[in-house]
Amino acid sequence: MVGIGPGSTADMTPRAMEALKSSDVIAGYKTYLRLIKDVIGDKPVLSSGMGEERQRCEAALEEAAKGKVVSIVSSGDPGVYGMAGLVLELAGNMEYEVPVEIIPGVPASCAASALLGAPIMHDHAVISLSDLLTPWEQIEKRLRLAVEGDYVIVLYNPKSSQRTWQIEKARQIIMEKRSPTLPVGIVKDAGRQGQEVVVTTLADMLKHPTDMTTTIIIGNSTTFLSGNFMVTKRGYKL
Ligand code: SAH
Repeated sequence: MVGIGPGSTADMTPRAMEALKSSDVIAGYKTYLRLIKDVIGDKPVLSSGMGEERQRCEAALEEAAKGKVVSIVSSGDPGVYGMAGLVLELAGNMEYEVPVEIIPGVPASCAASALLGAPIMHDHAVISLSDLLTPWEQIEKRLRLAVEGDYVIVLYNPKSSQRTWQIEKARQIIMEKRSPTLPVGIVKDAGRQGQEVVVTTLADMLKHPTDMTTTIIIGNSTTFLSGNFMVTKRGYKL
């Protein structure tokens, strides 16, 4: 399991790069394979589209069971909404033992945070707005509790062409308890071609385009702007 970071190979760890180079086969979602095509070169790939995760992981484990070294790539970190959990679950049910190693990567929350300044300097809750595998009621409950706990909130999977109302509802829930002028950072395609970084407010956040390669960071009661940077206080007395 290899975390390739947010996009550019400059943000990939040397350990991840080494693992890819020493693999016989590379498996992953086709968008991720495109990001690392120069590293893959002419190695055989097991590629697939969104929603075919299980088949892709099973095919990769079968190759590994034959003795091949297989890298299953995830963007960011494989253990953060990535493939690590599914692979370990599937590997545990296999007839043969397949050794699995998990190589961490820079998650989108950290890549986005670095572009925005220092918004996750203190406790933060990472919440995915995708209700494909998680009931919306649970997502909403976690959002409400994160707001209650004054956590900085990092939103993953904020919106897709099929899922459009969730981000509006999430903002409405946050607006009930937080100021409309609260800083909000929106980062699209961190470390990839077309990278966009916007610092806005809770009132205006929906005016900016958001999609499946966007991460949104919503400040807590101590988050402020320092120039163009978003900063959440750690508590130092200046
Ligand atoms: N394993 C990944 C997360 C995969 S879930 C990680 O550790 O980052 C996919 C979500 O991650 C996207 O919907 C988006 O919210 C976020 N994301 C992934 N790559 C991103 C990037 N380059 N820029 C901004 N957000 C990104």
